[in-house]
Amino acid sequence: MILKRHNPIGSDEIEAVNEVLKSGILSDFLGAESKKFYGGKRVLEFEEEAKEFFKVDHAISVNSWTSGLICTVGSLDVEPGDEIITTPWTMCATATSILHWNAIPIFADIDKDSFCISPDSIKSCLSSKTKAIIGVDIFGQSADYEAIRNVIPENVKIISDTAQAPGAIRNGKICGTLSDIGGYSFNYHKHIHTGEGGLIVTNDEKLAERCRLIRNHAEAVIESRPSSPINNMIGFNFRMGEIEAAIAKCQLNKLDVIVKNRQKIADIITGILAKVKGIQCPQVSTGNTHVYYMYSLILDENLDRKNIVSQLVKKGIEGVSEGYTNIHRLPVFLNKKAYGNSSIPWNLNKKNYLYGNGTCPIAEKYHDKQVFTLALNHFDMDENDAVRVANLIKDVIESQ
Ligand SMILES: *Cc1c(COP(=O)(O)O)cnc(C)c1O
Repeated sequence: MILKRHNPIGSDEIEAVNEVLKSGILSDFLGAESKKFYGGKRVLEFEEEAKEFFKVDHAISVNSWTSGLICTVGSLDVEPGDEIITTPWTMCATATSILHWNAIPIFADIDKDSFCISPDSIKSCLSSKTKAIIGVDIFGQSADYEAIRNVIPENVKIISDTAQAPGAIRNGKICGTLSDIGGYSFNYHKHIHTGEGGLIVTNDEKLAERCRLIRNHAEAVIESRPSSPINNMIGFNFRMGEIEAAIAKCQLNKLDVIVKNRQKIADIITGILAKVKGIQCPQVSTGNTHVYYMYSLILDENLDRKNIVSQLVKKGIEGVSEGYTNIHRLPVFLNKKAYGNSSIPWNLNKKNYLYGNGTCPIAEKYHDKQVFTLALNHFDMDENDAVRVANLIKDVIESQ
């Protein structure tokens, strides 16, 4: 079974990129105080359009969402040794963005139905050092930000990593905007893409400006802004080029159609698999829509996942993987080594930080034994493809 690779790039993008190439101005940022400190024509246009699209006061483009995460963490007045709570089910950049500011990632367990960070588990991770929470809208639906807000002190900020859920809605609000600051990835595997790219969204003027500074060599311009705090104002070059911005403008217009199609495909698969004994289809939390970056299945504990997945692969299914990730078991955390041979930032506090097996039991059990995923993000499937994929899974599960 050969599925068509996801490709949202068409003639609009080709024309827009040609226009940039013909202009000869492929980036129009200046890393010095000036009008061009905020980027070129298309970067500014894209940010204006993104503000409207995501209904926020500030949209800040970046060259990747990893860069976006580093900006958002830095913007929160994080001190070395502060703790930031996040989830083991995410891409590693969510956790390393914390380390980049010498803050300490703490992993809360995941919710057993949504796979997003568990508000209950956050409660047991809180300490006097907790500075922020990074919720991740994993696989395409929102974390429960209302419940998160209810279990944390008022001074603790929330970042949302909505890389996998652009266009998803929670209680009428656009995912990515339910927190103090959030954002999206535009790398090739995401719903819409610019090759590499990202976008930060927030309604907080101060956080927005600090992100813009970090994006573009903050240290070089901060002296001309006497009222700005200078902590964490060592900047980077996280600027988006004009080519990517031109593509991003086109891609934004396509998101709704891509999301609707993804939802149609997922609904067909769920329609076939919902009645199959031994597996659980994605559970969409109350108030959420799901945009299906990945399609997740939870197997009953007595079923042999390795055998099931190898049978599916033998029958030619594409994009199926066992488990997801467990960032809290990566060597960087097990060995507490991020900067040279030192244990910075963990040794900044007199505390024994525990990572690894046993610290996030649901995430571990699901990853090691029970969950497998279909990478809907890799393919542009039609209705027939969805029926074939679902029936293949149904047959294999029912033959166990
Ligand atoms: C893709 C992804 C990122 C990183 O985004 P890039 O644009 O590739 O840097 C971060 N978090 C999550 C959950 C992702 O899926």
